[in-house]
Amino acid sequence: MLLGLKLVKRALVTGITGQDGPYLARLLLDKGYKVYGTYRRTSTPNFWRLQQLGLIRKVTLIPADLGDMASLLEAVTVTNPHEIYNLAAQSFVGSSFDQPLLTTEIDGSGATRFLEIIRHLNTDIKFYQASTSELYGAVRKTPQDENTPFMPNSPYAAAKLYSFHMTRVYRKAYGIFASNGILFNHESPLRGLEFVTRKISNSVAKIKLGLQKEPLHLGNLETRRDWGYAPEYVQAMWMMMKKKQPDDFVIATGETHSVGEFAEEAFAVAGLNWKEHVQADRRLLRPLDVSHLCGNPAKAEQELGWKPRVTFKKIVDIMVKADVERWQKYLQGEIFPWDAPSYSSEIDILSRTVSREGKPPVPGIAKLLRHLGKG
Ligand code: NDP
Ligand code: GDP
Repeated sequence: MLLGLKLVKRALVTGITGQDGPYLARLLLDKGYKVYGTYRRTSTPNFWRLQQLGLIRKVTLIPADLGDMASLLEAVTVTNPHEIYNLAAQSFVGSSFDQPLLTTEIDGSGATRFLEIIRHLNTDIKFYQASTSELYGAVRKTPQDENTPFMPNSPYAAAKLYSFHMTRVYRKAYGIFASNGILFNHESPLRGLEFVTRKISNSVAKIKLGLQKEPLHLGNLETRRDWGYAPEYVQAMWMMMKKKQPDDFVIATGETHSVGEFAEEAFAVAGLNWKEHVQADRRLLRPLDVSHLCGNPAKAEQELGWKPRVTFKKIVDIMVKADVERWQKYLQGEIFPWDAPSYSSEIDILSRTVSREGKPPVPGIAKLLRHLGKG
């Protein structure tokens, strides 16, 4: 009787409005999953990434907050998932110094809430926890792998260390399929504007198009990161859930570059010399930073068959070109899903450009400013 009936897998993705959520949702949909995604109630909807990838009608959105156990219980009960991908987090290290307790509540206790729900409701649900290379903090060894000791250097990393261990503890104590992906920094045109890579690509685009005259202010230009490409990294998440046994995996490229190198490369993509446009600004230094990250993805390659393919240069190229294209479209008066218009700094640049010159620099900008309520 059941012949010919295919079981449709159900996945619940928290943080579906962030960078990784839509890429993961797209991958899971391609694999035939029914995808549910949690979003937070906000005064202004925040679905631009899902819209940009054309996914807004393909996923089922469920309101939930990682700080609210009742909403998580409701989300799991209603969706009855086979797999939960816990991507939601206060993910910006800089903000974790300003909001350490909130960060602990969401990034630390959030995972435990899900693990408790799984323990009580259905121990067959598989759980993926978005762990991070920030756990290594004051690095003890390079490159970092699954056996390198953790020494968090921020409230964000300390909170994520707790959720990393709780994921491992629930796996061992209750036999729950719970895995940690220790992902190194991964970037894309969907990255938030507060992160250094997108801050740079966005500024390069504005400088190139004559919308930004002042230099780009950056903090520490010497810190090094192992930057990979986000759409590839979500594949590794899914591969971990396909394993027979739960485990923890480092996902990285094995290559490291400084913030200065990223800026140099990004300005070069636009034919500009970064030295003429970047200014180091001590006010942007963090109280404590992570100076050097470089991951060793050998275990993922051997056991998952996962390998990074998109190079550092290619990532920078993709990001800069995407931001140049967005600003060009915007200047031509096109309205499309995008984050920059909701940042006050970005709108100010457009307004200043207009007032300094007395008239809009290009015809489309008048329409744009009317749209923003500035015209
Ligand atoms: P983003 O910051 O882009 O997305 C975070 C998501 O979490 C957003 O959807 C956000 O919602 C949601 N969120 C924030 N607070 C809450 C809350 N209280 N309740 C419910 N949802 C909440 O992160 P990424 O997509 O880049 O990263 C995904 C995960 O991977 C995160 O956990 C991050 O810490 C981790 N990680 C990321 C790395 C990276 O380089 N990108 C590296 C290693 C780990 P909203 O849109 O409403 O703000
Ligand atoms: P993180 O690795 O998760 O903290 O990712 P970020 O992109 O926020 O920061 C990467 C590195 O860039 C950190 O060492 C920051 O201190 C450094 N950095 C230097 N200037 C800036 C800046 O203007 N903004 C951000 N976000 N980071 C900066």
